[in-house]
Amino acid sequence: MSTRSIEVVVPPREPHYVGDGFRVHNFIPGGYRLDMKRMDPFIMLDYNSKFYFPPSDTPRGVSVHPHRGFETVTIAYHGKVAHHDSSGGGGVIAEGDVQWMTAASGILHKEYHEENFSKAGGDFQMVQLWVNLPAKDKMSAPKYQAITNDAMAKYSLADNAGTIEVIAGEYQNLKGSASTFTPVYLLNAKLNKGGKASFDFPLNFNTGLLVIEGSIRVNGEEVVPTNHFVLFENDGTSFEVEASENAVVLILSGEPLNEPIAAHGPFVMNTHQEIVQAMQDFHGGKFGELED
Ligand code: MN
Repeated sequence: MSTRSIEVVVPPREPHYVGDGFRVHNFIPGGYRLDMKRMDPFIMLDYNSKFYFPPSDTPRGVSVHPHRGFETVTIAYHGKVAHHDSSGGGGVIAEGDVQWMTAASGILHKEYHEENFSKAGGDFQMVQLWVNLPAKDKMSAPKYQAITNDAMAKYSLADNAGTIEVIAGEYQNLKGSASTFTPVYLLNAKLNKGGKASFDFPLNFNTGLLVIEGSIRVNGEEVVPTNHFVLFENDGTSFEVEASENAVVLILSGEPLNEPIAAHGPFVMNTHQEIVQAMQDFHGGKFGELED
C-alpha cells in the first residue's frame, strides 16, 4: 500500500436547477479537470447540497426525459424522490436509499419530489451520479436495483469511529449489493468526530470523494469542508479520512473504461453515429411513451 495523494480539492460551483426540483452543483463533467475522462467511468455528478424546499401541492421535479448508454445512481440523503418510467415502472427513493438504474438501451422517465414530502416541504439533499457502460453493454436491457438503507451492507469501524455503507464494491471484504458491469466502488462513510477510516483501491482506479456533511482531514493533512469534492491522483492506492466533526462522505472509485465517449445531453455513446441513432430512436418513439 502506498499513499494516494490529493490532486485537487474542488469547491462547489454555483448551483443551477434541473427541472424545478433539483438544485445542483455540477462537479462532473466540467469542474476543475473533472471532464468525462478524468473520473472515467464516472461521467456525471450532480449534487443537490442540503436545501430547504417550501411546501408545494405540485411536486417539483424534472419532466419526461430519456437516457441511453449508461447507468444513473441516485443517492438520497434528505427528502424523497419518486420516479416513473415508460415501461410502467416506478417507485420512491427514500432517505438513506440508493437507486441504481441501468438505462442502457434506453429508458424514458420523470423524477419528482415524492408527493407527501412535497406537500410538507423540507430539507432535500441528493446525489445523482452517472456511471458509464462499456460499449458491449450499452444496448443491454434496462433494469433497476433498489438498494434500501435497511438492506445495505454496513461495516462497523473499530473504536466507535463510525459505519461504512457499502453500496457497490466492497469494504474489508464486506460486499455491497449493487451489481455493476465493470469494477466500481461506491461507499458512504458515516464517521463520528475523531473517527478514522482508510480506503485502498487499485492504482489505476479513478478515485474521488464528496463531503456531504461535516468536515474531514485527508491523509492527516488537508482539511476538506462540506460540499467539497476531492480528486485523488493515481499515484498510490490508499488514503485515510478522519472526521474533524461528525461527517458523511461519499467515496467513489472505478476502473476506467478507456473507450471513446460521444455525449449529447442524456445520451452517452462511443461514436457520433450512435448519438444520431439514439436521437432518431427517441424521436421515433422507440423509448416508449410517458405523459408529463
Ligand atoms: Mn433521469
